Amino acid sequence: MADRQVDFLLIGGGLAGANCARWLREEGAEGSILLVGREPEPPYNRPPCSKRYLQGKQEREETYVRPPDWWEENSVELKTRTSVLKLDTDAREVRLSSKETVGFDRALVATGANVRRLNVDGSDLDGIHYLRALGNADAIRSGAEQAERVVLIGGSYIGTEVAASLTELGCSCTILMQEETTLERGFGSQAGRFFQGVLEEHGIEVVGSDGLERFEGGDGRVGKVVTAGGRELEADMVVMGAGAAPDVMLARSAGLELGDAGGAKCSSRLETSVPGIYAAGDMCEYDSPLHGGHVRIEHWDVAFNHGKTVALNMLGRDQAHETVPYFFSDLSDWSSMEYVGPAREWDQEVVRGSIDEGEFSLWYLHDGRVAAALSVGRSDDLEHARRLMTEGTDVSERTGELGDLSLDLDAL
Ligand SMILES: Cc1cc2nc3c(=O)[nH]c(=O)nc-3n(C[C@H](O)[C@H](O)[C@H](O)COP(=O)(O)OP(=O)(O)OC[C@H]3O[C@@H](n4cnc5c(N)ncnc54)[C@H](O)[C@@H]3O)c2cc1C
Repeated sequence: MADRQVDFLLIGGGLAGANCARWLREEGAEGSILLVGREPEPPYNRPPCSKRYLQGKQEREETYVRPPDWWEENSVELKTRTSVLKLDTDAREVRLSSKETVGFDRALVATGANVRRLNVDGSDLDGIHYLRALGNADAIRSGAEQAERVVLIGGSYIGTEVAASLTELGCSCTILMQEETTLERGFGSQAGRFFQGVLEEHGIEVVGSDGLERFEGGDGRVGKVVTAGGRELEADMVVMGAGAAPDVMLARSAGLELGDAGGAKCSSRLETSVPGIYAAGDMCEYDSPLHGGHVRIEHWDVAFNHGKTVALNMLGRDQAHETVPYFFSDLSDWSSMEYVGPAREWDQEVVRGSIDEGEFSLWYLHDGRVAAALSVGRSDDLEHARRLMTEGTDVSERTGELGDLSLDLDAL
């Protein structure tokens, strides 16, 4: 018998959990809501951790998903610094690190993701940072006060954004990555070359087509990064941006079915293999009507919108998750990208506007249909891309015109 019972139990104090709490109340849920998260902070937005918060231009509280008073005002019980240690799907109860057991009627598992750690020689030296939480951003910012040379491992959005932010803080930055050009894995080499150009214009060195071999240092501190290709990069500080893996520890031990992308496998309603238990955000993979199969997408906007879809389904609204995923990334205030997708594969890229002038949208087509679109300074184009993706419109006859700015996209 559990110590107490709640109507809605939300596990994981991140964006997905917080937004689910919000939408439960906004959609009229009257029952008790308990949100349990293991971090010391109330739920916050992670994107500022590599951008304005890291640069010291945004206050901690400005990253919070809800104002501090919101929880009490909306009768949502928020337990921070508390982990869910066990989820018993038969008894429908959890055991918390506070020793309490809590029974639930409906539950959300939104445990997010953990950074991927690279264990090479020298990984335990001081001055090597990972970035997932506000506390990591604090440590990197304070490290940057002493560091002259910083090496970023990874050329994806964490590596590139942090390089831009630390350059603003006066550090001299080098990005080391396996890819030939930055950001190419998600967005292709055409977009990648543009963003790499922006970074290089601001003095950031980019070392591509190479990998991390080991770290070297003296007095227990990192001093050098040695690459697989034999280069030696001087470093007073290193920031790792080697990706993240879904945190499915709790889901797995509870026996929830996992999918091929490593997340908790969910229906289009975001319900896991156990009825009445949902998953959302970075650790969830769901049957997406839009993508035609199971996808797991680590975007802020996906966690945000998943939270809402779960809330609606917890309230019996039978709602498939059909929102087109949106992603954004800023290289300081030098350049901003927005993207709808993600494209799993594409066979053609069409540029609308001018990459050289830094104002363009890039359309990723697969079998004559829009699979994704990226914008730098042409946000309105993304609205059209969204519509065409949702409707699955065949644009194969018009791809020649797509890049022509005189074409009214409404006509497609
Ligand atoms: C530095 C950084 C910058 C980013 N920038 C962008 C960006 O520019 N654009 C973009 O689209 N996306 C960005 N993202 C990705 C985006 O922030 C994530 O997709 C989003 O935070 C996922 O939210 P979530 O709620 O699924 O998971 P999380 O935010 O990871 O929250 C999960 C929470 O659950 C907690 N938890 C785990 N297990 C338990 C347990 N057993 N008991 C209790 N609590 C538990 C975790 O500690 C964590 O607090 C960025 C991510 C990072 C790290």
